Amino acid sequence: MSVPHVPVHVKGHVLLDDDREVGELWVRDGRVSLTRPSPQGSAARVLEGWVLPGLVDVHCHVGLDAGGAVDTDTAAKQALADRDAGVLLVRDAGSPLDTSWVHTRPDLPRLARAGTHVARPRRYLRDYGLELDDVAQLPETVRVQARAGDGWVKLVGDWIDRDLGPDGDLRPLWPHEVLAEAVAVAHAEAARVTVHAFSEEVVADLLAAGVDCIEHGTGITPELMGEVAARGIAVTPTLLQVAQFEAIAQQADAKYPVYAARMRRMHERRHQQVRDLYDAGIQLLVGTDAGGTIGHGRIADECAELVAAGVPARDVVAMASWRARAYLGFGAVVEGSSADLVVYSADPRDDISVLRHPTAVVLRGRVVLG
Ligand SMILES: [Zn+2]
Repeated sequence: MSVPHVPVHVKGHVLLDDDREVGELWVRDGRVSLTRPSPQGSAARVLEGWVLPGLVDVHCHVGLDAGGAVDTDTAAKQALADRDAGVLLVRDAGSPLDTSWVHTRPDLPRLARAGTHVARPRRYLRDYGLELDDVAQLPETVRVQARAGDGWVKLVGDWIDRDLGPDGDLRPLWPHEVLAEAVAVAHAEAARVTVHAFSEEVVADLLAAGVDCIEHGTGITPELMGEVAARGIAVTPTLLQVAQFEAIAQQADAKYPVYAARMRRMHERRHQQVRDLYDAGIQLLVGTDAGGTIGHGRIADECAELVAAGVPARDVVAMASWRARAYLGFGAVVEGSSADLVVYSADPRDDISVLRHPTAVVLRGRVVLG
């Protein structure tokens, strides 16, 4: 499984962040060097093209598929599919499988785990998360998950309440004071909190509780977007997931017409919603929501959707790479940093579809693709 370290010369347009581009760099013993090696230190491999720091999928469930937890072999294959699509850093957004072993596999992407989703019985997808019978268990559960993960906790903030019969619709899962206490517990454990949020109703509670990040965000109203931006709360639009809302509405039409109508409205508005979030100055993150019903390795499709929504490709590339790395606390590409790089044949800032076909992937200094 282990690919040897060979010296690599990377050249062309090496984009390091919003302001820095260099014409070449070298990879030696797994590390980036911005200084030309001595003549005898010739590179065994030359990779040329448009080069980005490894892509980041911030909403990606390694260890989960449509039926719940998968076995470790399947989880590793999921992570390899992400890697070969150029994703070298994953923040999972909840996984029922303990994937801490991924850290020991140098061939797999870096992983920032959020522990297991925290939900309530019948208020989320079955077999995905922890289901608390009593909402008062939330703060202590969050403490356990914060300690089990890598600095993130994932809460389910809203879901359809089927107990309302034909009036069944999205409703918050947690009383606001319990939510606020749980977020405070996570922060005391030095963990950040991200929350699944489809509806409008849950957003004010999330803001009052001081959450760090919002997943999906289809219900963030223009009136609240300014506050989301001012608080530095990042939002992951997960457009591949929201594209499925029309199909969800069709399934729900007969039994839950109110819910179906709402899902349909949010589906129709999805591109405008993302443009509004972007225009409000909110930090957007790129997340595929792979691992439930969406396959792994689709970051390029999510990026293309964001561009289709109206976010400039230049920003989408930054959001999918260096800005997300910084947001998650992973360093920039600098002298001596571990070499995580993806190479393309053209500039993805001019044509986002270029992201579909990386010509080479370098992970921890090893050429793992190309
Ligand atoms: Zn998800």
